Amino acid sequence: MKLTINHHFTDSLPADSLQENTPRQVYQAAYSWVLPKKPSNPTLLHVSDSLCQVLKISKEECHSKKFVDLVSGTQLLPEMKPYSMCYGGHQFGNWAGQLGDGRAINLADITVDKQPWTMQLKGAGKTPYSRSGDGLAVLRSSIREYLCSEAMFHLGIPTTRALSLVTTGDKVLRDPLYDGNPSYEKGAIVCRVAPTFIRFGNFEIFAARNDIPNLKKLTDFTLKTHFKTLGKPSKEAYLHFFRTVSERSLKMVIDWQRVGFVHGVMNTDNMSILGLTIDYGPYGWLEGYDLNWTPNTTDGQMKRYAYGRQPEMVLWNLYQLANALYPLIEETSALEDILTNYRDQYEQQNGIMHCQKLGLNHYTNENLQLAADLNLILQATETDMTIFYRLLADFDEHSPHKGLDLIHKAFYQPSALNLPLKDRWNTWFKQYSQQLISINSKPTERKRQMNSINPKYVLRNYMAQLAIDAADQGDLSVLDELYTVLKKPYEEQPKYEKWFAKRPEWARHKVGCSMLSCSS
Ligand code: AMP
Ligand code: MG
Repeated sequence: MKLTINHHFTDSLPADSLQENTPRQVYQAAYSWVLPKKPSNPTLLHVSDSLCQVLKISKEECHSKKFVDLVSGTQLLPEMKPYSMCYGGHQFGNWAGQLGDGRAINLADITVDKQPWTMQLKGAGKTPYSRSGDGLAVLRSSIREYLCSEAMFHLGIPTTRALSLVTTGDKVLRDPLYDGNPSYEKGAIVCRVAPTFIRFGNFEIFAARNDIPNLKKLTDFTLKTHFKTLGKPSKEAYLHFFRTVSERSLKMVIDWQRVGFVHGVMNTDNMSILGLTIDYGPYGWLEGYDLNWTPNTTDGQMKRYAYGRQPEMVLWNLYQLANALYPLIEETSALEDILTNYRDQYEQQNGIMHCQKLGLNHYTNENLQLAADLNLILQATETDMTIFYRLLADFDEHSPHKGLDLIHKAFYQPSALNLPLKDRWNTWFKQYSQQLISINSKPTERKRQMNSINPKYVLRNYMAQLAIDAADQGDLSVLDELYTVLKKPYEEQPKYEKWFAKRPEWARHKVGCSMLSCSS
């Protein structure tokens, strides 16, 4: 295995002056040198062949002992100088001070086809940022992160990637519902890969400490390495940088809304500077369409990060980044313009996305109204979002009265569909059909276009849970099958039709399926 390792991040930015691996505040440094903990019995459970290809790691190599040693932290390559990053963050609306990579260790920065990548182990032991945590990760949360990162990538949504999943052979104590019932679980490590893991919080920590020289160093490094087209450091370049981050974050969240993904913990330490989906914790996918839904029980009361609030929360996070970058820019109104533009762009792009989900390619008032009306009806009847849009692609505009039958499979409680609700649905189908006829929509082309943005297969929590339960018993077949089916989420794949199904009733209130906490 030949990796082209560089040390650009660690050469460009200041290191923690202390070498000791104890939890503490780390000042005037972007990272600390840390070594992964050696696992007692590392076992490879899965490798992403699609990411291996990108990184030019061959099939043989990714099953070799050398590879397993590497991605389990057992034996690193000689040129590797692993480190954990220092960052802060706003958690659930409040400044939380220093957080940092409490259980993530960057093995190496590498270059592949001139593109930068960082390989990172999640769950490989304590770092100076571990606070009271153990630096470890359990199998259930690692499977969730592994499968979902790759699923998001194949959905075409910006995300960090997952190269491999290993169990460590060590036990990890967790209290999954924080209700005083801890138990031992299997320890695991995911090797995550992204162009960079820099987050909003990396900038915030320097700004909060008024460490402007290092804030500038970090920003300049980020521009030079990851925003090459923005030019040499200057106030204009920094503003342009903020505008680009804002645009990318908007694109990411519109994608989430499109497929019904709910991140669950959109704190600023979980916001990638590249607009990548990052840190898969208590995330979930909308089943019954509900703007107010969050899978995260920790946020069950406030619902700050519920599905319908995600775009607004990205904006809130961008305000925090704007505050952090302000000392380098010193132009409030220019930063505010970018934030105002986010709002306008959101209105427009969200509208376009909702029209496109209906196969309506024009951003007109009529189309927007149809989408808005649909939003209300979907909320009024418990309707599975993914199944609904997929079935709707077969709508016959000349038979609107057949609409309800067509989408019947998407209802969780068909018996709850009373007359007033049926009327509302039928009225909507009539308006939809009139609109399709008036724009001369072609059924075949419409179906193709709708199915290219409305996924057939998403990683529902109960699916991940089935993979977890089987893997826990040593059976990796479900994990492998889900990985495979989620590689082609927009394709029909008749072989895997069983995964095109509503959440089963047993999963409605089951831990891990409808209820998740940050415990991982
Ligand atoms: P998260 O909510 O997973 O994004 O984590 C928030 C912060 O807590 C980050 O700084 C993590 O590194 C840290 N953290 C989460 N779990 C652990 C753990 N088991 N050990 C150490 N640090 C952790
Ligand atoms: Mg995090």
